[in-house]
Amino acid sequence: MILCSVCQTENDKYATICKKCGGFLQNRVPNLDLFDTLWRIIENPREAFRLIMIAEHKNYALFLYALCGINVAFSGFWYFRIGDRFENILLLIFCALLIGIPLGIALCPIVSSFHWTLSKLLGGKASFRTSMGITSYALTPFTISLLLLLPIELMTFGMYLFTFNPHPIAIKPVSYIVLIGLNSVMILWAFILLIIGTRVGNQISLWKSVFIVAILYGLVLRGVLFCGEYTLSLF
Ligand SMILES: [Zn+2]
Repeated sequence: MILCSVCQTENDKYATICKKCGGFLQNRVPNLDLFDTLWRIIENPREAFRLIMIAEHKNYALFLYALCGINVAFSGFWYFRIGDRFENILLLIFCALLIGIPLGIALCPIVSSFHWTLSKLLGGKASFRTSMGITSYALTPFTISLLLLLPIELMTFGMYLFTFNPHPIAIKPVSYIVLIGLNSVMILWAFILLIIGTRVGNQISLWKSVFIVAILYGLVLRGVLFCGEYTLSLF
């Protein structure tokens, strides 16, 4: 709670003006700066999500989802080991971009609605736009792995990253295990960030946030895998 210094009314701790007298409570945040917000997410996630929550525009949400979609496409190619279907790595990268960007953009309203609905069911206060802002910025570790880890993976393994025979682990076992390990850390980090964001955005308990995020991850993972399997069965 935040107390209005003019009329002493108790306001929501994220309110920018007093609900009774309209007095100034704290700075309003009209826009989010991409790099500043991403840096805050790394440095102080609680503070960053608070900023995202009170920001009037949830800037770059769609952009972050699009980047994540590219990551999902590459992960899908890796998971289903479909390297043999492409003549060369450039064609595979082109396809990952072609599938990934629209996939990410489509996931934005879907994942945000799921997050918003689950939050509402557990008594959360987040609006749909807050859910969109929180889920998109919680994808920061996936953005980092797309921009930093994937180029290293592609340079180290090339096409073999996506083939079954030979399997990438047979080519460079240590590098493969290290890269898989780093990717797992990124997934865990994104999971923790979304729990923090869900908690701050909804003002609910830690366990409710963990529950929401676990259900959300389960649903999205099942959905994406199902779509991947279905698409592959067509070709
Ligand atoms: Zn007041």
